[in-house]
Amino acid sequence: MVDLHLHTTASDGKLSPSQLVERAAARGLRIIAITDHDSTEGIASALETARKYPQLTIIPGIEISTDIPGGEVHVLGYFIDYESPQLQRDLAVMRVSRERRALNMINKLTKLGINITWERVKELAGGGSVGRPHVAEAMLEKGYISSHAEAFAKYIGREGPAYAEREKLTPVGAVRLIVEAGGLPVLAHPGDIENLDAMIPELISAGLVGMEAYYDGYDADTVARLVAEAQRYNLIPCGGSDYHGPDSGVETGLGEVSVPMESAERLMSLSVRNHQKRRAVS
Ligand code: AMP
Ligand code: FE
Ligand code: FE
Ligand code: ZN
Repeated sequence: MVDLHLHTTASDGKLSPSQLVERAAARGLRIIAITDHDSTEGIASALETARKYPQLTIIPGIEISTDIPGGEVHVLGYFIDYESPQLQRDLAVMRVSRERRALNMINKLTKLGINITWERVKELAGGGSVGRPHVAEAMLEKGYISSHAEAFAKYIGREGPAYAEREKLTPVGAVRLIVEAGGLPVLAHPGDIENLDAMIPELISAGLVGMEAYYDGYDADTVARLVAEAQRYNLIPCGGSDYHGPDSGVETGLGEVSVPMESAERLMSLSVRNHQKRRAVS
């Protein structure tokens, strides 16, 4: 019924925002959040399509990639004011750095004998936020690899020979950016973050309100551990499928992670209070 982590063609998802909403409605979902990487471009058209489905609530969201020494941490932002000019300026900078990074990766791949073009990668991104899945797709269609997983394992994963970095915010920086845009920051897929406890208090001081605990691929023990962790810090345990669209025609994932309705309701009531407060001060 609830899925708070979904991607569209505005980043590296395969379905357009409108197609995603159609599928979510067909599957009987009640609350979904659109959370594209470094982009809110999918939200307006998702909301437009959702007008046909009064039983389906769309939460406008985002997923921001950040860097920590030795790894990556993603921060989701719910009920973000996606029309904020400051937010849009910041996101545009991130998307340009994604393009530069893709070019660097393409150059490294060329040196490894893999010839894919920037033009094709850009085309595959379809005007959305360019990501490594688009690079993987360009490699796949030319037969250099047989799956995205192989592209990440052999070439463009963090340790791969064609990996390139880009400038990213710190986790605290992403939390602040979301707060400034009126959103509610939630730590994404924290299951494999080492030293979670060392990071959380600082994120809470910056405005973190929740963390994902229900997530695609997490076993029952991991979910229980993360729910307990969330409770300990009084964070809302959130989650979703991190759906990126049908994989080789097989429809899996969307709405298939069971997220409590209560989590979405807590987010929604926090958001109402948050917006009242913002109105009061402005
Ligand atoms: P980027 O945002 O450009 O760093 O690319 C990260 C995205 O690549 C993630 O959001 C996933 O959609 C996808 N991804 C990450 N790791 C893998 C993997 N091992 N196999 C397939 N896709 C992956
Ligand atoms: Fe992704
Ligand atoms: Fe993520
Ligand atoms: Zn995601």
